[in-house]
Amino acid sequence: MARYAVIIPAAGKGERFGGGENKVFAKLDGRPIFLRTLELFINREDVCQTILVVSPGDMAEMKSRYGANLGFMGVQIAEGGAHRFDSVRSALSGVREDAEFIAVHDAVRPCVSSDRIDAVFAEAAKTGAAILAAPLFGTLKRVSESGVIDATVPRENLYEAQTPQVFRRDLLLDAYANAPQDVQAVTDDALLVERTGHPVSVVRSDPSNLKITAREDVTLANAILKARPAAKPVRKLGAFEEAQW
Ligand code: C5P
Repeated sequence: MARYAVIIPAAGKGERFGGGENKVFAKLDGRPIFLRTLELFINREDVCQTILVVSPGDMAEMKSRYGANLGFMGVQIAEGGAHRFDSVRSALSGVREDAEFIAVHDAVRPCVSSDRIDAVFAEAAKTGAAILAAPLFGTLKRVSESGVIDATVPRENLYEAQTPQVFRRDLLLDAYANAPQDVQAVTDDALLVERTGHPVSVVRSDPSNLKITAREDVTLANAILKARPAAKPVRKLGAFEEAQW
């Protein structure tokens, strides 16, 4: 069985979310968003390591409120940086040698289904690089600064990139080592791998794997989770520990 290290970047500022607190701490059906996301991976037989990336500003709170439980769950913590690129790079330096593949999944995507994780993990094992992405079905407009339509963009073959994004370990490390100067523009990991010339496969997803950006997205995420069959209990988390969250 292929072995995967999973990096969960959670070190964003989340300015569009508001409220002064990092959105990853916001509760989704009673539990923090970052924990819901972690739970999707920590019980998988094929995951050998999970690294949560936390911003320096959130580190003290993360460790004091959740550190013991994260340790119990076997989750490592890495310190994030100014941009998503810096955060993922920070975690990459701690990935175990025996992980053949590295998956990166945004902490703010707690609704990805286990079937889709299976599918993108399997595709990466076959091709070396695979991401989830959802086809766009709406009519797309490019809009000027003044709020007027500049152009209608043909939607044929357009997909919105999601996570998990999964790569052979050497491919991702190489892509990060040869990254461009403008790291602010690196909004996902596939972009870096694309630049190396290695093909990146797309595993079709849908908008239910939403990225929680604004506060309204929490309501939507709650509805998506409620519509799903109940998740399996988290093996590495006993009833006592669960009560602590
Ligand atoms: O900013 P964006 O919405 O693209 O963030 C996607 C994910 O990357 C979020 O889970 C966020 O916490 C994380 N991130 C990070 N470090 C940053 C910026 C974003 O870990 N500097």
